[in-house]
Amino acid sequence: MAKQDLDILIVDDTDIVCKKLSSVLSQAGYSKVRYASNGQEALMMLGERPADVVLSDWIMPNMDGLQLAESIRQLDESRQRYSAIILFTSKEGIEPLEEALSRGVDDYLRKPINDRELLARIQSAARIGTLHNTVLRTVNVLRRDNQRLQELATTDPLTGLGNRRFMQAHLESLLSETTARGGVTTCAIVDIDHFKLINDRFGHPVGDEVLCGFAQRLLWAVRPTDMVARIGGEEFAILTHHPDPAKFTPLIFERIRRSISQNPIISSEGNIPITASIGVASHSNNDEPMTPDDLIKKADHCLYQAKQQGRNRIIC
Ligand code: GH3
Ligand code: MG
Ligand code: MG
Repeated sequence: MAKQDLDILIVDDTDIVCKKLSSVLSQAGYSKVRYASNGQEALMMLGERPADVVLSDWIMPNMDGLQLAESIRQLDESRQRYSAIILFTSKEGIEPLEEALSRGVDDYLRKPINDRELLARIQSAARIGTLHNTVLRTVNVLRRDNQRLQELATTDPLTGLGNRRFMQAHLESLLSETTARGGVTTCAIVDIDHFKLINDRFGHPVGDEVLCGFAQRLLWAVRPTDMVARIGGEEFAILTHHPDPAKFTPLIFERIRRSISQNPIISSEGNIPITASIGVASHSNNDEPMTPDDLIKKADHCLYQAKQQGRNRIIC
């Protein structure tokens, strides 16, 4: 009985060879042996179900063994999987061997095929395939984990919005876009007024509810292409880009401020009225070049003035 019951596909245009090989394989204990009489048929069968090992004749009409090997590698690539390929041929000399191995074939058998050599080579090719597939699976898991880590590193866990790091990266790309293609990039920093009093009065968990409700409020108020991030405890940023500076007015943030002050946030402790102060800074391609930090500092300065002047207002 074979150590591992491999899925094996034999490809040969001579029926008698296919039957002879499959009989050797089934006597050796392999129960999942299929055969195809040409390259096209083999690719169709592999499309339906991949094989661990493909044993193919080199010389065949229409598609030869090397062309088939190349197509199998493409199929493997699209499926993130590896099939071990063994070619057999009556070609003599070292050149055919070099050519086969350099074009993606794993091993090579000379005709007439010796049964014991065939079984030994299948085992060895299957080991290569298993190793490749383990590496591919590991790479996929690492890639997924990396993506997840990246998301965690740029997401605020409470509201699900992007965090300050995410906002800075996004602002950098908006500013590059403004330099390259024109338009105007705006950074608005929105800070809830006297938020500490909400925590003091209702408790921290209700404060959290208010922050989540506030995040939703901002998301509903902006366009789908705008970005909202939570960049501090009760501090949020809205980033926008308008291709035509003439059509842009920072007064859109006034509409947001009004909506916040006119509609309380719904919480488990009832409706909680809040207000927010907003500092707005813009950059267009006619201005001196600006870094994300420059624009954030400018918006922060405006926010500070809004607080100084009595809160619940917007300063541009
Ligand atoms: P101002 O109008 O000057 O902005 O006053 P403020 O009270 O909003 O600002 P201050 O910076 O004095 O207080 C912010 C408060 O936000 C203090 C902190 O405990 C609270 N806070 C920060 N992060 C969180 C959080 O994740 N959840 C809750 N519930 N509170 C938070
Ligand atoms: Mg505040
Ligand atoms: Mg604050």
